Amino acid sequence: MRVRNRKRIMVTGGAGFLGSHLCERLLADGHDVLCVDNFYSGTKDNVVHLLANPHFELMRHDVTFPLYVEVDEIYNLACPASPIHYQRDPVQTTKTSVHGAINVLGLAKRTKARIFQASTSEVYGDPEVHPQDESYWGRVNPVGIRSCYDEGKRCAETLFFDYHRQHKVDIRVARIFNTYGPRMHPNDGRVVSNFIVQALRGEDITLFGDGSQTRSFCYVDDLIEAFVRFMDLDPGVTGPVNLGNPGEFTIRELAERVLALVGGRSRLVMRPLPQDDPRQRQPDITLARQLLDWEPRVPLEQGLERTVAHFRKVLAS
Ligand code: NAD
Ligand code: UDP
Repeated sequence: MRVRNRKRIMVTGGAGFLGSHLCERLLADGHDVLCVDNFYSGTKDNVVHLLANPHFELMRHDVTFPLYVEVDEIYNLACPASPIHYQRDPVQTTKTSVHGAINVLGLAKRTKARIFQASTSEVYGDPEVHPQDESYWGRVNPVGIRSCYDEGKRCAETLFFDYHRQHKVDIRVARIFNTYGPRMHPNDGRVVSNFIVQALRGEDITLFGDGSQTRSFCYVDDLIEAFVRFMDLDPGVTGPVNLGNPGEFTIRELAERVLALVGGRSRLVMRPLPQDDPRQRQPDITLARQLLDWEPRVPLEQGLERTVAHFRKVLAS
């Protein structure tokens, strides 16, 4: 039986952390999902449970090359998101954001598909404005080790807005702030997964710098809800729209909370602060609240508990 309003939806980066949750959600909503991924930082394991679903299709493809498929909507998530991954092959990272955007925007133009871009709080760089709202243009180093990611994402935003102005493509640009949850890769290098895995293994917890820098952490389910609401908004709104949880914590506080949850004997140890590591980050989500009638519901404590439970299983298997 064909579900009414079933759409053909492509998710690039669909085998990654966020992409796999999004594919699950879109299937649950009754859509046909085409998951496109080159498995650079994502894995088949993240979507293996979806493979038996006839409405799910997995395609190995690198978005820096063109793709010819017929779709109604596109979520463009392809891009490694963790510093250790995006710095491993920085030229490929920029290509993924820039050539990838050109390819998926060309596809959207031809098929008249609505298209969502997973942009990032990194477009604000190391910000002088706090909290960051969408009108802030950012303070980004164009030649540093984070630039391949930050500038790639900034250029992708430019391309999205030019395809919108020049070719009337229906775009949705979301600026995502740090998000965590089950299916982050254990060796992903991002702070939440690092701290949980270190605590579970009884290893030292590595604070980069003195741990006084801040981040705001959003649980994955809250973020995916916002993605879908933003994409479904009619009449359309281009964004950019900040999506994240405004609850702000120092990295040291995060480490202490993880330790309190996991228990064990791990010690906090300091490691050099990576170059261009932003000092503070907190989204102003006024616009998302107004437009999407949305705000995050899962408090850090609860989200961490679910994520710890996930990593306990992964490490035990
Ligand atoms: P992730 O690394 O788990 O997922 C990215 C996926 O993209 C992976 O499956 C990877 O294999 C795939 N990919 C990379 N290069 C590709 C290419 N050239 N062609 C096809 N697939 C490719 O990261 P994530 O946390 O799930 O992030 C998803 C998206 O959201 C990224 O675009 C990221 O920049 C953005 N984002 C995430 C966060 C966050 O906190 N998780 C914050 C801001 C922005
Ligand atoms: N961080 C840390 N220890 C780690 C990994 C990260 O102290 O083992 C710090 C990192 O320096 C940054 C913050 O945690 O200040 C968030 O890092 P992450 O890589 O998760 O995301 P991003 O810097 O892109 O926000």
